[in-house]
Amino acid sequence: MLESSPSYNTSSEDATKPQTADITIIGGGIAGLWSLARLRQAGYQAILLEANSLACGQTGASQGIIHGGTKYALTGKLTHSAQSIGAMPQRWQACLDGQGELDLTQAKLLSKHQYLWSNQSLAAKLTGFFASKVMSSRMQRLGKGDHIPPFNQSNFKGELYQLDESVLDIQSVAETLRVQFSEAIFQTEVSNIVPSKDAGKDTRYQIQLANKSMLQTQCLVLTAGAGNEQLLNVLALEQPKMQRRPLLMPMLKAKASVLPRLYAHCLGVSALPKMTITSHTLSTSGEPYIIWYLGGEIAEQGVGRSIIEQVQCAKKELQMVMPWMDFSSCQWSALAIDRAEPKMSDGSRPVEPAVYQDHQVITAWPVKLAMTPIMADKIYHQVEALGIAKNKPIKRVKVTLETTKTSLLPWEKVTQWIT
Ligand SMILES: Cc1cc2nc3c(=O)[nH]c(=O)nc-3n(C[C@H](O)[C@H](O)[C@H](O)COP(=O)(O)OP(=O)(O)OC[C@H]3O[C@@H](n4cnc5c(N)ncnc54)[C@H](O)[C@@H]3O)c2cc1C
Repeated sequence: MLESSPSYNTSSEDATKPQTADITIIGGGIAGLWSLARLRQAGYQAILLEANSLACGQTGASQGIIHGGTKYALTGKLTHSAQSIGAMPQRWQACLDGQGELDLTQAKLLSKHQYLWSNQSLAAKLTGFFASKVMSSRMQRLGKGDHIPPFNQSNFKGELYQLDESVLDIQSVAETLRVQFSEAIFQTEVSNIVPSKDAGKDTRYQIQLANKSMLQTQCLVLTAGAGNEQLLNVLALEQPKMQRRPLLMPMLKAKASVLPRLYAHCLGVSALPKMTITSHTLSTSGEPYIIWYLGGEIAEQGVGRSIIEQVQCAKKELQMVMPWMDFSSCQWSALAIDRAEPKMSDGSRPVEPAVYQDHQVITAWPVKLAMTPIMADKIYHQVEALGIAKNKPIKRVKVTLETTKTSLLPWEKVTQWIT
């Protein structure tokens, strides 16, 4: 577990006097953290409130893949708007290299590439995919001699491609931002938010915190993922509406000799990835475990199954797509989690980040971790349009709150593994 910063104590005078912050961001997943960083770097007096621990929601549960559009191209949905995702791998990479809009030089890269494999010939089903210039420049077919484990053996008869999409240790991204902006990040539940009737411009909303202290703010940025729904209710805002799309993500653990580190999409009969595997480390006092975390179709279709049923399906499916592997020593589990997004009329997945503004309330869902920079651009421009002053004299916001820490990862929270 990552260490927390020391708690931020204030005098009794501070506790009784309402404190102010020009911009209050609610929700400390990637959306809130990225927005906080962008706004503070631009000179705005912004703070972030997180109810639990940072990245404890979708962000910590994500696979950390910085998509560049492969999924859209595979399903023939590489529309003009979806093409904006094509720029995301470079934008994140610039941050990792210390040359981007944020400093993510301390964050960990798990893999520079994603792979794509199929046990059958891919050529027929990927005609449209290869026809797309965007995609063909970003992927290459690997010859037998370049196959990575576990495909580097004669039993693998399919095809393997290398994609230009990196995978990040997303907990380290959250931790890097937490360390840089810890003076502006607080752990608290929000009990109520009340528009101030006759308050000045600087104190438009009164935020009642769980410890009964009060915070006044000019602009609210809601980046609370699934929690946005309740916050919008509290504010009596009918729009935007939110949808949840659930997942049941299987995971398995074993020593590295059994599970090589793999970051790959498996294609089945349809052009939709049957399964997307990412690999993570679970530290123990002895040799660490490797976790394979399974997303894609298997996680979508698993919704409604019990964890035991989903584990049985995952065992069967993995054995089918990798018949040469021996998974008998692995231990298994599954995580149920909802994706929270703006509501689509047909319940489908939105293709772009969503940012809505109603007076001084901005509500945002990045839709994909990878697209967070686009979401933050939109938030930034809306804040700018509100005319909130920048570069005011530095004022520490004093509220009697704990500074928050970064969450455990899904496999660190499993209490009972299934054999
Ligand atoms: C299983 C899974 C795998 C995914 N994999 C990928 C991937 O590989 N690549 C990719 O690009 N995208 C991926 N996604 C999508 C991506 O994770 C999400 O789009 C992104 O993390 C959403 O971030 P967020 O900050 O909006 O929400 P969240 O990460 O859910 O953060 C919301 C935060 O708000 C806090 N909160 C809630 N209510 C309140 C309140 N009232 N007061 C204060 N705080 C509150 C929560 O505690 C939480 O910390 C995945 C999603 C899931 C579920």
